[in-house]
Amino acid sequence: MVAPLKVGLAGLGTVGASVVRLIGGEQLAARSGRKVEIVAVTARNKGKDRGVDLSGTRWIDDPVALASDPGIDVFVELMGGEGDPAKAAIGAALKAKKSVVTANKALLAKHGLALAELAERNGVALNFEAAVAGAIPIIKTLREGFAGNSFARIYGILNGTCNYILTRMEQEKLSFAECLKDAQRLGYAEADPTFDVEGYDTAQKLAILASIAFGTRVDSDSIYVEGISSIAPADLAAADELGYRIKLLGVAVKTESGIEQRVHPTMVPKDSAIAQVMGVTNAVTVDAEGIAPITLVGPGAGGLATASAVVADIGDIARGLRVAPFGRATDSLTVAGKAPMQLHEGGYYIRLLAVDKPGTAATIATRLAEQDISLESIVQRHIGPQGGSDAKTAAGPVPVILITYATTEDAVRRALDAVKADRVISGEPQLIRIEKNR
Ligand code: NAP
Repeated sequence: MVAPLKVGLAGLGTVGASVVRLIGGEQLAARSGRKVEIVAVTARNKGKDRGVDLSGTRWIDDPVALASDPGIDVFVELMGGEGDPAKAAIGAALKAKKSVVTANKALLAKHGLALAELAERNGVALNFEAAVAGAIPIIKTLREGFAGNSFARIYGILNGTCNYILTRMEQEKLSFAECLKDAQRLGYAEADPTFDVEGYDTAQKLAILASIAFGTRVDSDSIYVEGISSIAPADLAAADELGYRIKLLGVAVKTESGIEQRVHPTMVPKDSAIAQVMGVTNAVTVDAEGIAPITLVGPGAGGLATASAVVADIGDIARGLRVAPFGRATDSLTVAGKAPMQLHEGGYYIRLLAVDKPGTAATIATRLAEQDISLESIVQRHIGPQGGSDAKTAAGPVPVILITYATTEDAVRRALDAVKADRVISGEPQLIRIEKNR
């Protein structure tokens, strides 16, 4: 008879309380062949009612003391935060040769490498399936399901808040500000939404996925990041007309100049799997070399969804399975380096407000041609006397939408700088990168 696996759990909030519920069920013990018991817990407030049965567990005030307690085999960190006590507690557990499970993407994006080295040195597991895309088993898929494949590209919708806002903007023709307010009211967005809507949350998750897929050192600071706050209903309407949808994607792609890692609003063809993903749902598309892309879709957040991944990680430890945290020996991970965005190659959507005077169109065409940029389509809208589109009028700037064939970021930026200097457009051009199906 195998002894039960004894778990110490730090954090009893949204995810932690759901882990307590899920571990109590029959499935985990049946599948891992071993009983799993939570024997000790901690959180900030000992007296808080969390709606779960914690009888039979010890309360240990200090998360670091809990992490190295001799009575536990596994330490589960669900407090969050990129610093202490989460970092100190995980470090203490690994040094005490206890396997660790965490959902803490912020901590992993910053200290993942050092913690992975510590886990390896001590011969224990550091599992973090829940840190990226909630219930979607993307880390296991990349690390184990594709153990023999090289990857060409990984991209995904990794932030439910942004996808919710873009979906509402597209379907109900609302502004970014209106949708953000609703997302906050419904609890999908924080009071300070910057971290989500400006793409930093997606970047932390992408850094983890890129490391596993491409064998690079996890480094979210090297990622090019652009958020969704500048997206206007006009962009979503134009995308729709041209056969695209706009999604905030995290993209890691193998290029001749290295692994390009970027987060930005992206136009994706309407017939792609990722374009079908609406609302708070997450998705990741895996382009493994030699096989057609595979897209995993599912809930990226929420108590039970996230707990499902945490409990699966605990199940692996119960089975005695230990895989290198980033899928290969930590000292073999290479430096990814900052992607030179100027070298990025792809199609572009450009929305300009062209000044309505003779020669404007010719000037824009010349500046694009000088940079060898060819256009796949041009849409010019005239604002009619009733404010509707398409009826020609002479007054005011005219919105012009250009879709380019594959070119470089450098060429597009140079062409737009020249157009601005020529004073044939009003305001800043809008620029959205296009990610095609392979
Ligand atoms: P949460 O609801 O805020 O819960 C955090 C828990 O940690 C609370 O029980 C809190 O105690 C405890 N805690 C916080 N600081 C502590 C400290 N200094 N010492 C001891 N306990 C402390 O957070 P959550 O949503 O469950 O998230 C937990 C982790 O999962 C985070 O790393 C998060 O990024 C990750 N995650 C969450 C989701 C999600 O959908 N929520 C999805 C994916 C990943 P009190 O309850 O006493 O205040």
